[in-house]
Amino acid sequence: MSDTTYNSCGQEEHKSNCLICGQPLEYFSAAVEVTCFYCDKKEKGSIACSKDLGHYVCDDCHNLSSYNYIKDFILSADSKNPFEIAFDILNNSNVNIPMLGCHHAYILTGAVLASLKNRGYINIPKEVIKEAFYRLSKQAVGGYCGLSGVCGIVPAGGIVYSILTGSVCGKNEEQNITMGVTALLSKALYDLTGPSCCKAYLFKALEILSASLYEDFNFILIDSNVCIKCNFKELHPHGCMRDRCPYYLDSYILTAEKLKENLKNAAATEGIFKVAPVEISINLDKSNLEGNNNILPAPC
Ligand SMILES: [Zn+2]
Ligand SMILES: [Zn+2]
Repeated sequence: MSDTTYNSCGQEEHKSNCLICGQPLEYFSAAVEVTCFYCDKKEKGSIACSKDLGHYVCDDCHNLSSYNYIKDFILSADSKNPFEIAFDILNNSNVNIPMLGCHHAYILTGAVLASLKNRGYINIPKEVIKEAFYRLSKQAVGGYCGLSGVCGIVPAGGIVYSILTGSVCGKNEEQNITMGVTALLSKALYDLTGPSCCKAYLFKALEILSASLYEDFNFILIDSNVCIKCNFKELHPHGCMRDRCPYYLDSYILTAEKLKENLKNAAATEGIFKVAPVEISINLDKSNLEGNNNILPAPC
């Protein structure tokens, strides 16, 4: 896969390392004063180009052009398979989804919500998906996987559950089940780290949510084996984990047996991969949602 693509203004961008010149990034142990190359915003930043501090790109600008593409793709997606939705986004050679970054968290939340909607399990209006992305913008921040130990993929899964249950601070079961899925995701990412890989995290989180949404709500997101093919091994700026990554082989087949390994309760296996009518016992509590339609344009 090519390292470069063009943004909506026709400027060349790199998929890995520095967006502007492709040189390795430097990760600071303490934030420094920097100015965004694209929007001139001055702020404290923790990551910049190792060759030129002027190649600092703020998180908004790092995410926005691909974020807008991801949002539009999710809002119009008609696939029922969240893996298919995620790979259609990742494999689009006309869009620059950087190798590392919180775009993957948006892909996770969006692909799962779109799958639930397209399967008819729950009515999810566009405003709810935009609200989910707004929540994500508060907790999925580039580089903070290393700085705080919390990857954006973790709240991305929690947001799916908070949308489904109406969880807000102060609720009991709703918040408990939401924090339960984030604990599962965080442990799975811990097991995969060394170095971190947003692609592997996304694939694993899709596995976990496919299992946990079945276990917790009897929602079936996939009907048959899924082939996960990672085309991104050569793009990892810190080096692919290679054979320490479950997705390193040319294809990883997600079977019902593998999906069961992601369940919290090994007894809850009946029905996996069988499409059956489900009883929907949850209500989407829209009164808890803050509308947010202020999606900014791409920075260039
Ligand atoms: Zn640079
Ligand atoms: Zn900026």
